[in-house]
Amino acid sequence: MNRKSLFCGRMVIPHPDASPIHKGAVLVEGGRILAVDSYEALRSTVSKGNIVDFHDLVLLPGLVDAHNHLSLDSALPNYLERMNDSECELTLRAVKTLEVDIRSGVTTSRCMGDRFFIDAYLKRAIQEGRFMGPRLVVATRGMRASHGHGFVGLPCDGVDALRKMIRENVKAGADLIKFYATGTIQDKPVIPCFYSAEEIQVIVEEASRVGLPTAAHCIGGPGLDLCLSAGVHTIEHGYYMTDRQIEALSRSTSMLVLTPSEFLADKSTLAPERAALFRRDREKVRERLSTVVKSDLFYAVGTDGMHGHLADEARYIVEAGASNLEAFRAVTLNGAKVCGLEGEVGSLEVGKWADIVVVNGNPFEEIAALSRVRAVIKEGNILFQEAHV
Ligand SMILES: [Zn+2]
Repeated sequence: MNRKSLFCGRMVIPHPDASPIHKGAVLVEGGRILAVDSYEALRSTVSKGNIVDFHDLVLLPGLVDAHNHLSLDSALPNYLERMNDSECELTLRAVKTLEVDIRSGVTTSRCMGDRFFIDAYLKRAIQEGRFMGPRLVVATRGMRASHGHGFVGLPCDGVDALRKMIRENVKAGADLIKFYATGTIQDKPVIPCFYSAEEIQVIVEEASRVGLPTAAHCIGGPGLDLCLSAGVHTIEHGYYMTDRQIEALSRSTSMLVLTPSEFLADKSTLAPERAALFRRDREKVRERLSTVVKSDLFYAVGTDGMHGHLADEARYIVEAGASNLEAFRAVTLNGAKVCGLEGEVGSLEVGKWADIVVVNGNPFEEIAALSRVRAVIKEGNILFQEAHV
């Protein structure tokens, strides 16, 4: 889209730290933002036919899901086990979840492990305009130890095998390298770490040498200390971090990505025994989450397969004690930073991609407004719009 367009509404919230603009507008050309100001200031910059008026709705930056998996769909019964389905089935599922994500306002999604390079193929297909979907940042295949956790990652042991798998992932188009340091639920007094210090260091070294960040599935325990001292770029989940580890993380260069719904949402699609384990530790995880969000620790937020539910993750953050503004920041700017795209997305600022989500309500007043998505614009194109909007 090369002509100029003006998107306007009751309010534009361009940035967590900026004042909302009443009767605001976003001027767009070539998919990028040219100006953000009041409608009155910008109305003369385009012809009437190029004005899209969302009337009493609110325009926000497109949301960033900082931890997702395209083929993992928590709406399906036994969805974890179904990561072992065929390549064809997983691909079809991924195409569907992309659309669900877009409709929920997610315009950038960080894919933290999918089989068969499905995420890398779909990233290219979306860039080429063959599929509708968020901008993808892809890990391709996640790596886990043979005795380690995971339905999504693939077994890979020892430094030589890790180097080989990382190189294959890079060749296939990986934007980051993902590995599974720990399980997801603490089922022993000490949380096991399935990779050695040497293996974790090699993962970071091999990825860093080609300029890629690393991400560790890590809930806490000694594995978290190893990841921090190796310089792993993001800690995913962090459910059982101690106060000391929260402090260590805040002093480190690593960033945290929270995925609260894994424990806090009731998922009827989980096997009953597994659901019971999540429920068992729910209050402990809630207490840890509360400590994190009340500290000054940086964090972004992801759905981890709860497609279409990033707004619920933001709500859990608020219920744990974060302000609406902090939750909004987590699903916009902080997500962009975790993706390495803070100069491109995450706020409505001049020069960034024109990714806009149009919602009914002001999330600073009511975080649930994020769930009332009425239209989604990516790079200046309306990808989804409710019929009556
Ligand atoms: Zn995950």
